[in-house]
Amino acid sequence: MSALVLIVEDEPKLSSVLQDYLQQSQYRTEIIDNGLDVSAYVRAQQPDLIILDLMLPGKDGLQVCKEVRSFSDVPIIMVTAKVEEIDRLLGLELGADDYLAKPFVFAELLARVRTLLRRGIPNQELDTLTIANMTLDLKRRSAIREGQRINLTNKEFSLLELLLRRQGEVL
Ligand code: CA
Repeated sequence: MSALVLIVEDEPKLSSVLQDYLQQSQYRTEIIDNGLDVSAYVRAQQPDLIILDLMLPGKDGLQVCKEVRSFSDVPIIMVTAKVEEIDRLLGLELGADDYLAKPFVFAELLARVRTLLRRGIPNQELDTLTIANMTLDLKRRSAIREGQRINLTNKEFSLLELLLRRQGEVL
């Protein structure tokens, strides 16, 4: 199963764009728009990563981060409205794994999500390999295209996997 990313963000436009972007990158997502409901959700659903906005209704990101850290090592990327704030946040030693200032480039956020997930859960991203409209299920050694599972022989699968992993190279 793909990694579950919890988006804690009270601006609906931003959270929905983020959600689309992460889902396109094959992550599962959940949005929480306030600071009060985060701990209970993390305990119950154990997301693989949290993107945590600093300014939130109910309880701010600082408190939420400390609270979650008291019982979980889940990777946390803290998002702030001001780049100047990052130094101050670092000084507070909240236990967040990474910091990002708004407005951020989605590709940058995605790169950081990937890095943290790799660090936290080895092999997490090796269950499937997706390129364009083709997904390879590495565990079951089959391919899925446009929702249809395609049966392949072992040799066909290995060849396809090699081509997808090394796309852009001449083989
Ligand atoms: Ca906010």
